[in-house]
Amino acid sequence: MENIQVMGVQGLPLIHGGDDIAQMICKRVSLQDGDILCIASTIYSKAKGYTKKLSSITPSERAERLGKLNGEDPRFVQAVLDASTDIIMEHPFILSEMACGHIGVRAGVDQSNIEDGMVIFLPPDPMKSALDLKDEIKKISGRDVGIIITDTCGRSFRRGQTGHAIGWSGFTAIRDFRGDTDLFGHVLKITEEAVADEIAGFANFVMGESNNGVPAVVFRNCPKWTGHDNLYFRNDEDITKKVLKKEWNQ
Ligand code: GDP
Ligand code: MN
Ligand code: MN
Repeated sequence: MENIQVMGVQGLPLIHGGDDIAQMICKRVSLQDGDILCIASTIYSKAKGYTKKLSSITPSERAERLGKLNGEDPRFVQAVLDASTDIIMEHPFILSEMACGHIGVRAGVDQSNIEDGMVIFLPPDPMKSALDLKDEIKKISGRDVGIIITDTCGRSFRRGQTGHAIGWSGFTAIRDFRGDTDLFGHVLKITEEAVADEIAGFANFVMGESNNGVPAVVFRNCPKWTGHDNLYFRNDEDITKKVLKKEWNQ
């Protein structure tokens, strides 16, 4: 039954401020009800103007200090600080939390796939961005699709980055298996599967990281699931964050 189809959207141009990416994607792919459309945060942010010229940024004392500490341009560090609501770790790289709850290396601020001297921020309210895109695509194509806004993120414990869901709409981020029974009738007590991240991970694989030029990927025929949207740990549940903050503040 589950014959999932994965299609990279080909032929999108370089995205600039003001571009209507929903329209541009709908022109290039014929979407169907139930499709899941993954969009790289990078093009969403470029289209919405969540970008800055480094030369327009004045670094604070803290940005100067962290720039020296980590060997980075203090103006870039200031962009990272501006995008962060909480700094979890300062060195060897800044690890920080954003208002939306996402925790990322350098707050997900990118200097790749944009002109020299520019930085790209993650969308500040990615859940709303995903919902807006869902609505726009419904208006343009008449189709009901799910949306994932993705970013490439590092992980703890393992080398190598993978795609993560930064914002989503049309389904729950988590597929909740708790209360389900396994093949032997054992009741599952713990398993909550981060489906939105799994799909974002494969989308990221299709996108690539460099000059592939494929910032949107469609998943067709995914099975449906139910669960919840509490993808981020509450502060009191987040063991890694607690340990890192303690370590850093000693
Ligand atoms: P991120 O993971 O959201 O930070 O985005 P990346 O910079 O890794 O880019 C993901 C994919 O989108 C790669 O295939 C890039 O080549 C592609 N990409 C990035 N910007 C653009 C753009 O403006 N136009 C097109 N067509 N592709 C882009
Ligand atoms: Mn990125
Ligand atoms: Mn990427």
